[in-house]
Amino acid sequence: MTIAINNLHKRFGKNQVLKGIDLSIDEGRIYAILGPNGSGKTTLIKSILGMVIPDKGEISVLEQSIKKGWKYRKKIDYLPQIANFPPNIKVKELINMIKDLRNSPSSEAELIELFGLEPFLNKKLSTLSGGTKQKVNIVLTFMFDSPLIILDEPTTGLDPKALIRLKELIQKEKAQGKTILITSHIMQFVEEMADEILYLLEGEIYFKGSIQELLEQTKQTNFEHAIAAITTTDSHA
Ligand code: ADP
Repeated sequence: MTIAINNLHKRFGKNQVLKGIDLSIDEGRIYAILGPNGSGKTTLIKSILGMVIPDKGEISVLEQSIKKGWKYRKKIDYLPQIANFPPNIKVKELINMIKDLRNSPSSEAELIELFGLEPFLNKKLSTLSGGTKQKVNIVLTFMFDSPLIILDEPTTGLDPKALIRLKELIQKEKAQGKTILITSHIMQFVEEMADEILYLLEGEIYFKGSIQELLEQTKQTNFEHAIAAITTTDSHA
């Protein structure tokens, strides 16, 4: 099991955001974390990453409790939703900086080629378009070889060609046995990529299962409609 979560609770002030999440994430599969805005998706991901400290509950990543230190984070490649890059440094410098920080083997050259970033390597980050910034964000995430990959809205701003490249890249990582968690508002992307859907609602896992199971439970034939119908049918996990 790649991630095991037991009875996870998190509250911000009076706002009880996670209400006893139990979850197991298996190796070599792609999971989509879905749910309405404010349902706790980011809080759940940040708890796994150790960026949010839970009030109660246990999380283990690759068979190790995350309370036992930060080193497990080296086994996670995380693509943040909003990449706040330093504006005045060049793309090349940023890539080298992250490489130095991680101090792990990296394979940025093929990714730079894959996303056509060569012409931008000597440009400052502040001069790049949103889509190009996202391509840089993707290179920084995928250039390391970690067993667990967490992608927060990875398709943001991408043109169709880059989107195809991203999908191929994710499938390639999966074929290598990696575990991938994705949040996305793009249902077509989720439908194409996800082996399993995790639907969060009001701080609980409301549905966990395959797209086929979701369609059956909601009696829908269309994935997007099934997601919309999920809370109106008895599809509680
Ligand atoms: P989602 O990613 O599903 O949109 P979030 O996990 O970002 O949901 O947020 C869930 C709830 O927790 C929201 O009501 C949000 O305002 C609140 N929240 C998230 N992070 C913080 C924080 N650092 N401080 C206070 N409230 C927070």
